[in-house]
Amino acid sequence: MTIITNHMPTAELQKLDAAHHMHPFSTQNELAAKGARVITSADGVWIQDSEGNKIIDGMAGLWCVNVGYGRDRLVQAAARQMAELPYYNTFFMTTHVPAIALSQKLAEVAPGDLNHVFYAGSGSEANDTNIRMVRTYWAEKGKPTKKIIISRKNAYHGSTLGGASLGGMGGMHAQGGLPIPDVYHIDQPNWWAEGGDMSPEEFGLERARQLEQAIHDLGEDNVAAFIAEPVQGAGGVIVPPETYWPEIKRICDKYEILLIADEVICGFGRTGNWFGSETVGWTPDIMTIAKGLSSGYQPIGGSIVNDEVASVIGACEFNHGYTYNAHPVAAAVALENINILQEEKVVEYVRDDIAPYLKQKWEALADHPMVGEAKIVGMMGSIALTPHKESRAKFAADAGSVGYICRERCFANNLIMRHVGDRMIISPPLVITRAEVDVLIERAVKSLDEGMARVKDAGLWEAAN
Ligand SMILES: *Cc1c(COP(=O)(O)O)cnc(C)c1O
Repeated sequence: MTIITNHMPTAELQKLDAAHHMHPFSTQNELAAKGARVITSADGVWIQDSEGNKIIDGMAGLWCVNVGYGRDRLVQAAARQMAELPYYNTFFMTTHVPAIALSQKLAEVAPGDLNHVFYAGSGSEANDTNIRMVRTYWAEKGKPTKKIIISRKNAYHGSTLGGASLGGMGGMHAQGGLPIPDVYHIDQPNWWAEGGDMSPEEFGLERARQLEQAIHDLGEDNVAAFIAEPVQGAGGVIVPPETYWPEIKRICDKYEILLIADEVICGFGRTGNWFGSETVGWTPDIMTIAKGLSSGYQPIGGSIVNDEVASVIGACEFNHGYTYNAHPVAAAVALENINILQEEKVVEYVRDDIAPYLKQKWEALADHPMVGEAKIVGMMGSIALTPHKESRAKFAADAGSVGYICRERCFANNLIMRHVGDRMIISPPLVITRAEVDVLIERAVKSLDEGMARVKDAGLWEAAN
C-alpha cells in the first residue's frame, strides 16, 4: 500500500477541516470538536488513515467501490481519456466515443429492452431526471394528469430536492420544505420494526397491497409511476418478506403506471445478479444507476430507459440536461469498470461464492445476545439491535443511541460498519475474499461485544415501554 507522507499532522488537518469543510449529513460543530478521521489511501478492501491504521471497509466507501480500491485499469482509463478528450458536451448535436461505448455496454448488461441511457452526475440527479421523464412521458401520451409518483417511507432516493422528495426520510423532509408536490409515500416492508403480531408473510402482503390502495385512493389517472429500491439500502438494508415483491409485481402489472427501480446500490452485482430487480423478479421501465456504475472512481449516474419510454420521450424536445451528462472521463472509467466486472466474473463470484459464504457468517450473528434479526441479500446485510429478541423490542433510549455506540466500537476496531438507527449495516466491496470476510465478522463480533458492555454500563440495556 502506498503511504502518502507529504501531508500535515493529523491534528492540523482536522483543525483545517473543521474550519472550512462542511460535511454532508453531519452535525458540524460536534464533528469539529471530535475531529474527522482523515483517510489517506486505500487498496483492495482496506483503507488507511493518517495515523497509519488499516481499516477494513465494510461499506465499500458509500456502497460504491464494488471492484475494490487500487485498480490501475481504472486509473489508466481516466488518464487516457483526460489526455484525449477531457470534456465535451452532448447537448448540441454532438457526441463522443466514451458516451457511445458506455451506452452500448449498459444496454448489453441491462435486462430486457432497457436499451437507452440518459446520464447524470449522481444518483440524486438521475432521480430528478426520472421525475421529469415520467411526467413528460404521460403528458406526451395525452394524459397530463398522471403526475403523482408513489414511493415508500424510509426509502432513499438522493438528496436533491427531487431525490429527497421521492425518498421517505422524515429528517430530510423536515428541512427545506419537502416533499415537492405530487409525491406520495406508502409504508415500508420492515417486518422487524413494524410487523406487530402479523407473520412476515401476512405483513409482506399487507404492505404490498398499500400500493394498490394508494392507486385507488389517488386515482389511476393521476399516478405516473412507482419508484422503489429492490432492497432498501440507506434505510437500513431492509429485506422484505418473501410475499412482498410478487404482490407488488401483480399490482404493477394490473395498472397503467411506470415502474422505476432505483438500482443505485443494488445495481452492478451487489445482490448477486447484475441488477437487484432481477433478484426480486421485477421488470422496471426505468432504472436509476450510479455508485457501482463506476465503483465510485468517478462521479456518474443515469437512467436506463426501456424502448417504449425512450420512443415517447424521443418524440418531443426534452428540456433537461446537465453540463456533465455522459462526462467523457467518468464514462470511460465506468466502461472499464464494467469490463472488469465481466472479465473477472465478479457477479458470478458474488452469486456462487462470496455471498453464500458471507450469508452463513452473517446469519450466525443472530445468535449474539444483542442481535434480533440478521438479514442479507447478496453483499448487503443488516442486523437489528435489541435488548429483547423474542418481543422484537426497541431500546428505551433515543433511536440510534445504541447503534451509535456500536458504530463507535467498530471505528475503534478498524472496521467500517454503519448504523442506521439501531440497525448495523454492511455492504463490502464485491471482491472481498473469504479470509477478509472472516476478519470483518471477527471485528464485528468484537465490536458488538464491546458495544453491549458499554450499553449496559451506560444503563441503556432497557426495552421501550
Ligand atoms: C446513494 C443513493 C442515491 C443518491 O445517489 P447520489 O450519487 O448520492 O446522489 C439514490 N438512490 C439510492 C438507492 C442510493 O443509495
